[in-house]
Amino acid sequence: MDFSEPEHLRHLRDMLQRFVEKEMPRSAAREWDKNNHFPREIFKKLADLGVMGLTVPEEYGGAGRDILATMVVVEELSRRSLAVSVPYLMATCYAGMNIEECATPEQKKRLLPRVVDGSLIFAYGWTEPDTGADLANVKTRAERHGDVVRINGAKRFCSGAEIADYIYTLVRTGPENERYGNLSLVMVPPTTPGVSITRIEGMGMKGAATTDIAFDDVQVPFENVMGGEEGWNKGWSMIVGSGLDVEKLEVAAIAVGVAQAALDDAWLYTRERRQFGKAIGDFQSVQHKLADMKTQLHAARLMLYHSCWLANNKTRCGVETSMTKLFATEVAKNVAIESQTIFGAYGYVKDFDTERYVRDALLLPIIGGSSAIQRNNIYKWSNKNI
Ligand SMILES: Cc1cc2nc3c(=O)[nH]c(=O)nc-3n(C[C@H](O)[C@H](O)[C@H](O)COP(=O)(O)OP(=O)(O)OC[C@H]3O[C@@H](n4cnc5c(N)ncnc54)[C@H](O)[C@@H]3O)c2cc1C
Repeated sequence: MDFSEPEHLRHLRDMLQRFVEKEMPRSAAREWDKNNHFPREIFKKLADLGVMGLTVPEEYGGAGRDILATMVVVEELSRRSLAVSVPYLMATCYAGMNIEECATPEQKKRLLPRVVDGSLIFAYGWTEPDTGADLANVKTRAERHGDVVRINGAKRFCSGAEIADYIYTLVRTGPENERYGNLSLVMVPPTTPGVSITRIEGMGMKGAATTDIAFDDVQVPFENVMGGEEGWNKGWSMIVGSGLDVEKLEVAAIAVGVAQAALDDAWLYTRERRQFGKAIGDFQSVQHKLADMKTQLHAARLMLYHSCWLANNKTRCGVETSMTKLFATEVAKNVAIESQTIFGAYGYVKDFDTERYVRDALLLPIIGGSSAIQRNNIYKWSNKNI
């Protein structure tokens, strides 16, 4: 068992850290958060670094499928700003990985090079007003009319629809009583007539603003069905394939990045802030907080990298990825709140990044399958094997 960081990952991390300091200064991250803005110009620069192609096979111009490297990028970008890290994974994972796994050869040829050059972003249009955790219950309908697919319905909490090239829309394509058998995934450009998008104001994760989407007799060519003829009615198997495992890891990687930023800022602050004639870091209760935060973060990162390793090897890892998502996101929430406590009143005001870390961290146990759903899965899938 070798736990040392491979050299290529160390280089990648160093390169990313230099990139973040140069292209994503703290002042910019605050502006993106304040204005709910996605700095698209950064994508071209990330493409120049070669990191947009980490989920794309070499024949399409990518670097091959490297989930661990992709999550290291998500982690490093998330240390500074979710306004870049979330669109990054919407490109490399939502688009890149789904296309690589589920698309027709023609769709791959057309779309994968655009992931590599940073010009393709997918938004997930899965959740609906009455459908949250129970995703297979979606009601948005799509009907085939020759070479055209017609869509009617509504999606909720579709993040990044305004900046995406396609809304990757989960639709019902047959009777509702065949719960899993009649679902498909259709790529819908947000500019298509009949699509209307309304922003929902949330606490955190600014940049890829979350939205309500209405589909009013929206028509797209059948070639936009993921997987083409073979993909029609096969949407559920595409969702629960290895994509679901990777989605849990994406949220866990964001969590590790946010928690690291919250810990780093708190640690520095304990050296600078003085009360009762000494640095607050001289108080043992503060030292213990930092020790606990660091320990939790270390465990979360080890779980993340282990799950990435399993997913990279295409090993079954539903239980491990659920444990990782559950643990890492709860750690991020805890570490961010502890960081805020260490900052005292300054942790509550916008002049410091700590209040943003809290807003971002609070979301992470909710999205990508809530903590309760991860616990259900860990129990259910482990119980089968005992
Ligand atoms: C900022 C933000 C961004 C988002 N982005 C996207 C996106 O891009 N695309 C997208 O499709 N969705 C997105 N979502 C939706 C998110 O994935 C859902 O919120 C999530 O799936 C949970 O659904 P729900 O909130 O409707 O909760 P519900 O499913 O209504 O659950 C409510 C509560 O009941 C619990 N619960 C439900 N079922 C069970 C069960 N079987 N066992 C135990 N407890 C249970 C849940 O854990 C939760 O605490 C986003 C949400 C937010 C807030």
